[in-house]
Amino acid sequence: MKIFNTLSRQKEEFVPLEPGKVKMYVCGPTVYNFIHIGNARPMIVFDTVRRYFEYKGYEVNFVSNFTDVDDKIIKKAIEEGVDADTISKRYIAECKKDMEMLNVKPATTHPLATEEICGMLDMIQTLIDKGNAYVAEDGTVYFSTASFKEYGKLSHKNLDDLQSGFRELKVTGEEGKRDPSDFVLWKPKKEGEPYWESDWCQGRPGWHIECSVMSKKYLGEQIDIHAGGEDLIFPHHENEIAQSEAANGKTFARYWMHNGFLNIDNKKMSKSLGNFFTVREISEKYDLQVLRFFMLSAHYRSPLNFSADLMEASKNGLERILNAVERLKELEAKAGAGSAPAEAESAGKAQVKELVEKYEAAMDDDFNTADAVSAIFELVKLANSTANEESSKEYVSYLKETIEKLCDVMGIITEKKAEILDSEIEAMIEARQQARKEKNFALADEIRGKLSDMGILLEDTREGVKWKRA
Ligand code: AMP
Ligand code: ZN
Repeated sequence: MKIFNTLSRQKEEFVPLEPGKVKMYVCGPTVYNFIHIGNARPMIVFDTVRRYFEYKGYEVNFVSNFTDVDDKIIKKAIEEGVDADTISKRYIAECKKDMEMLNVKPATTHPLATEEICGMLDMIQTLIDKGNAYVAEDGTVYFSTASFKEYGKLSHKNLDDLQSGFRELKVTGEEGKRDPSDFVLWKPKKEGEPYWESDWCQGRPGWHIECSVMSKKYLGEQIDIHAGGEDLIFPHHENEIAQSEAANGKTFARYWMHNGFLNIDNKKMSKSLGNFFTVREISEKYDLQVLRFFMLSAHYRSPLNFSADLMEASKNGLERILNAVERLKELEAKAGAGSAPAEAESAGKAQVKELVEKYEAAMDDDFNTADAVSAIFELVKLANSTANEESSKEYVSYLKETIEKLCDVMGIITEKKAEILDSEIEAMIEARQQARKEKNFALADEIRGKLSDMGILLEDTREGVKWKRA
């Protein structure tokens, strides 16, 4: 298997630290709002990477954090007049719902920054003791980039260039920095902010230290893969390398993987530009499998432009696969007459094997999901043209199971969901209202339960009953 490593800017053969095992860390979202579909790209991409390793027989330890202490969370909490914890808990729960709808598997561990402060204090102290960090007068602790000779190796930046680039940028409150490219490990609290006690000041951690500490705690000092969106290469991942390698004296991650941006009108989709759609918004228009399929239709390192046309094309493509599987299921149930010539079926089987090899070759080549999806379409074409009422049950099942297995690696569920029409839902709501009028609350509750099983949520408001798809 070959993986493009940002560190060497080359595709490298994947060799795990421990045979048969993969230790993988993916930087997770900062939780102060619903996630947007740009944030969903690394989730979908690295979940697919994980699934492919599992398909190949690896045991994957997959860790992905939630950043639950951050300026943006605190700002939102102040706006709403609640504490930061309320905001982060709410959006972690919402993010998990989105992940479930996207069929992203829960991580082996989802650590929270606020629950790992002790480990952060320890690592910061180690960095101070080793001369890689220093305490400024106001209690801020900075990492000294000059103390880590390899600083810049991931982003391929030169420290001298960085220093002169940063020199112009004087940030108020950071007067205690020795070098402009030094970064914060611990900072003093401001009025009304959450804080923790430390030897340096009452304060909170910088963002980068969380990932170094959580990765070490849950995966060990050395890991196979560290991943995230390409905007994290600098400074976040560069700083993580500096912290972890200076503190542990070992290479941190062997392979660094970064996904390209999801763009809209060729600009990065981001909260700050305001040009985003949340996953939740898209779920009102499409089954989120369509979004997942759309994301995997491109190579993960390429930029991907979001558009209604491409979503429609993905919807149609996905339908084609689901319809083929549905037809194979029907043929399977009819148990096929089996009168098709045995030679034709063994030729068909050989073609299936070739297409599976094609699929695996694409995935082995730095997870080329675009080519892997093409192999699935070729399988679908083969199934549509060769499986029929004369086919043996064995041949039909073989085709069906192969398509299902390869789709599962992509996180695509091949079960067709029954389409529920708005008119059916409204008729059921009407029946529930009638039952309530007649004080038959048991029946009213039963109808509500049925709707909920169908993924329909009801809300009783003053203007009447409102409903939405969960
Ligand atoms: P954030 O919450 O901004 O820290 O982002 C969480 C993850 O989403 C990181 O891995 C980011 O690199 C990634 N990300 C954010 N915006 C985009 C985008 N438009 N396209 C692809 N990945 C993104
Ligand atoms: Zn991180």
